[in-house]
Amino acid sequence: AKANPAKRICFYEETMDQAVRERRKTMQELRDALARRQFSLHYQPQVDIGGGAITGYEVLLRWQHPERGAVPPSEFIPMAEETGLILPIGEWVLREACREAATWQQKHRVAVNLSAVQLVADLPRVVARALADSGLSADRLELEITETAMIRDPRRTTRLLEELKALGVSIAMDDFGTGYSSLSTLRAFPFDKIKLDRSFMAELEASPDARAIIRAVLALGESLNIHILAEGVETPAQLDFLRQEGCTEVQGYLFGQPAPMNQQRPTAASLTLA
Ligand code: C2E
Ligand code: CA
Ligand code: CA
Ligand code: CA
Repeated sequence: AKANPAKRICFYEETMDQAVRERRKTMQELRDALARRQFSLHYQPQVDIGGGAITGYEVLLRWQHPERGAVPPSEFIPMAEETGLILPIGEWVLREACREAATWQQKHRVAVNLSAVQLVADLPRVVARALADSGLSADRLELEITETAMIRDPRRTTRLLEELKALGVSIAMDDFGTGYSSLSTLRAFPFDKIKLDRSFMAELEASPDARAIIRAVLALGESLNIHILAEGVETPAQLDFLRQEGCTEVQGYLFGQPAPMNQQRPTAASLTLA
């Protein structure tokens, strides 16, 4: 017997409904997650390639869902952006990171990710308040912004980033090499740091092209006087290559997984570097 097309459509709509309902449910849960204290911060060390010293920590948001467990940021950040929830959530991350960093014995830098949605006129005031309320000195805060966030409205964003820099914080370009306006963006705004996207590290060993791009970015950083950090460093071979090519700062599983601050410990790799 032939399948009844009407029945099939009906079934299809039911599964659609199911997906839509689940999405709505997750959104509602995301809306309540702040009040229910389901968010926490993990920290991942950034390491000086020369002596192995920790230079700072990147803050990575974690959502502990009561039934689903840890929900990855790749799943809930886009949802938070679409709904505008990223504004209160992002502010919480910023304030919590500043508050926690202000208590550290060692005065490491703390790097906070900002979504493009957060790049609004109010942001400098939000950042200034987080610094004032925590007592963290501005030069210990770094803000990470992706290049895609820059291209939306380069002139407005440039003005906003200049206002932020005037507070004394530093600005890093995140995921460098994954967008397409990289060079013009670099000219438009004086970034303090470029974070070379981890996809280049993943391809480094197999691809001469990836190695050529990494070399070129390191040379670019040198001539523009911008600090380059390589993300996603997992193997000693990657580290060796980066060191040979003059990279000065690294981050990745080789040096430490993102973890709560009270679970941080020196890794074998950073000890070898030392
Ligand atoms: P990102 O800013 O590029 O963060 C780095 C991601 O790479 C993190 O994933 C980190 O766990 C992962 N990673 C670190 N070292 C390695 C490595 O050696 N190998 C591999 N394969 N991965 C490594 P995570 O924590 O899942 O976060 C994913 C993305 O979610 C982040 O990418 C960032 O775009 C976003 N995100 C996380 N926290 C926040 C936040 O507080 N605010 C905003 N707006 N976005 C956030
Ligand atoms: Ca980042
Ligand atoms: Ca990144
Ligand atoms: Ca990313």
